[in-house]
Formats: sequence, structure tokens, C-alpha cells
Amino acid sequence: MRKHLAAACVIAILPAVAQAAWVAISSDAGKRVEIDPSSVRKEEGAKLVVLGRIFFDKELTDPRTNGPYKSIEALTRYDCANRTYVTLKRTWRSVDGELLREEEVRSGSEMPVRTGSLDDKMLREVCRPRTPGDQQAAASKLVDKANAAATDLRKANEAMLQKEAQKGVKNAALATPAKEAAAPAPGPAAATAAAAPVVRAPAPRPRPVRRPAPETTHDAVRQHAHIHWDYEGEGRPDNWGKLKSEYATCASGKRQSPIDIRDGIRVDQPAIDFAWRPSQFRIVDNGHTVQAGVSGSSISLLGKQYELLQFHFHRPAEERINGRGFEMVAHFVHRAEDGRLAVVAVLMESGAENPFIQTLWNHLPLEKHQEVSPPTTMIDPSGFLPADRGYYSYMGSLTTPPCTEDVLWLVMKQPVQVSAEQIAIFSRLYRNNARPVQPGFGRLIKESR
Ligand SMILES: [Zn+2]
Repeated sequence: MRKHLAAACVIAILPAVAQAAWVAISSDAGKRVEIDPSSVRKEEGAKLVVLGRIFFDKELTDPRTNGPYKSIEALTRYDCANRTYVTLKRTWRSVDGELLREEEVRSGSEMPVRTGSLDDKMLREVCRPRTPGDQQAAASKLVDKANAAATDLRKANEAMLQKEAQKGVKNAALATPAKEAAAPAPGPAAATAAAAPVVRAPAPRPRPVRRPAPETTHDAVRQHAHIHWDYEGEGRPDNWGKLKSEYATCASGKRQSPIDIRDGIRVDQPAIDFAWRPSQFRIVDNGHTVQAGVSGSSISLLGKQYELLQFHFHRPAEERINGRGFEMVAHFVHRAEDGRLAVVAVLMESGAENPFIQTLWNHLPLEKHQEVSPPTTMIDPSGFLPADRGYYSYMGSLTTPPCTEDVLWLVMKQPVQVSAEQIAIFSRLYRNNARPVQPGFGRLIKESR
């Protein structure tokens, strides 16, 4: 697919390897944003599809699979005439380019490209006219990168071989050839790994996720568990840590959520800058909660931006405030580019009917795991925020397995009202989907005064 790239000069180093030619678009603390100009594919009109990636300086942990990743690739379609883009697919890759997880963006809508934004830089790079000279320049950059990658990979290969020798051949049984087909666009690192085939066969591979519905942030890869996590029975919360080794943090973690929020220090906290926008949405009953996804919304806190991925509900509310419980809570899960999670919690109490909730409930899917994307209905999450933007903040975890820690919790102090009937509707689906409060272990809690 990328063979038209002038790769002749690379062949001496990496024979017969199709190679992504990453060209840096921007680079700042901890990460580079790159595109592969040779991947550009024309579509109808002035639309171009291109493979880009964020390459991080250090390994990060994927909250969904708990696996380590070093880069996130994104297949994006840019409309050069209308200055819009839509993300088609995201792929998480490990340090040696192995596929960790893929996420098809099924109902992505076209987003406007804001002037001066990173997407603006991407669009300009992708949409500018291409000449043969460009490709030569890209190819010479590629040689430098390939040399560096070869050195890195030799080290990584040696380390992996050592690890494999310790583990024995058992892991070879886990290798699934299908995954090779699922990784059509390996980065330079992976391509170099292919040049040393001895590593590839026994390498332990992340297990593919086989589920009918889109995986959620709170869900773990769990097809090997005989007992699924739940809120009652064998899979109840106090057993989560024993169900799977990946869930160990649920039992052993010292920064678990939810907590009873009390004894916070009252200070002037920075305002959360909510850029929650109206958008279309998708909604699914994923077997643990009702969850909705939107696009184009984010928050900023202390200059760091977190994109809103999804929100979902618990009944009763998981968190307590000075011992007090609430009817329900909505968790708005955000992720920054570096993978850090921030969850905004909006507590809900019984009162007036809530139009935001009503729109969601109107579109509740009839079947579990069947996602619904209403074609013409918009929702505006900002309409759900309480008038008072004061909040509590503390460091915690996901409240469902694998209970990953290092999650920034932002719990709005003022609850919002929903009607008793709206609460009753959710109760028909989930009477109790709240994890009990966890020990605080002396964690600092801040409270807006
Ligand atoms: Zn939650």
C-alpha cells in the first residue's frame, strides 16, 4: 500500500518491508504528532484519508485493556474544501508496534477544523499539493528514523527474547495469526521487528476482544473469566479483585473510587472550563449501565484539555458527601491526549423533570448491547450541569473493573434534579449498579469554597 514511497534507500537496512514514513507535524512535552504522507488516499470531492499518530515518549497504560501502549494511530478523513474532519479508526500500539486495541469510530460526525489548532496543522499538511520532491524529502527523513528504530528494536528484541526464554513456549499457543491481518499499517518499529522474525512467533499477544457491542471504558477484556463482574452474587464488588489477575487493583489499590467525600480542604480551586457542545449521540445498555457517547465536547483544567468520551449512570450515586447518599449520579469520562482520565460526576436528586435525561430515556435501546444512534436528535450535555460550578477534587480510580487508578475525580458540589419517574425508569434497568465506598487512605480532597 505504501510501496510507491521512494523506499529504495531504506532497502539496504530493511529489505522488503513496507514502511510507514512518519513525518512530525508537531512535537511538545512527552509526545509527537506525526502523519504518514504516503498513506494519503483520495476519496470523492476534496476528501483525503490519512494515517496519523501520536507517539509518546514513554509507555502509557490503556485504561480499557490495562495493556501498555506507546502510540495511538488514527485514520482520519479530511475534507480540504470544507475544512472538516472525521476520525474513522483509532489503533493503540505497544512499543514495538504490536496492536493492542482497535476502535472503529462508527457514528463519527464531521467536525469543523479550528484555525490554529493541531487539526488545522494536520489539514494543511494533508491537503497541500504533493510533488515528487516531497516524497524524496520524506524518504531521506525515513532513513534517519529507520536507523534509530533499528537500534531501538535490536535492544527491544534482545529484551523480549530474554523474557520469552523465561516464559517458555507456552505463550506460543496464545499467538493468533488473525492479528497479523488486523495490523495492516505497522509503524517503522514494527516493520523492523518483522525483519527479525525470530521475535514475532513466540511474542505474547494481547488477546483480541470479541464482543458484540462496543467496548466501554469501564469494561475490561474478560472473555476468560468464568464469573463476570457484577453488583451482586459471585461477581459482586468485594470479589472483583479475585475474578481475574487484571482486576487485582480493585482489591489491592490504595486510591480506589468511589469514596465518602469528607474533610476536604476548602480552597479556591481553578474553574473547570466546560466546552461541552450540542452533538448527536449514541446510547447503549452495556449490561452494567446505560452509557451514551458524544463528540466534540471537552473540558480544560489548568491548561490541560480532556476530551469527553462517554457518560453513564449509577443508581444509587456511588460517591457520598459527608455520609449523605444521592438517588443517582452521572459520570462524564474524559481523556487527555496523554491518556490521563478525568471524570466529572454530577449528582442527581429527586425533583423536577430533567429534559437532558428525558431525551436519553426517550431513546433507550430495546435490547442490551444494541447501540442506538438517533439520526436527527441532538443533546447538549452542558444543559445538565448544575448552576453552581463548585466541585470536589481527589485522585481515584475507575469504579468498575479493572479499577485502574490515576483518575482525576471532579465531583460537582450541587446536585441536579431529575423526576421520580425518570429515576424509576432507570431502576427498571438497574436497581443497584453502585460500587460501595472505598477507604480513603488519607487522600487529600479539595473543595471549592
Ligand atoms: Zn461510573
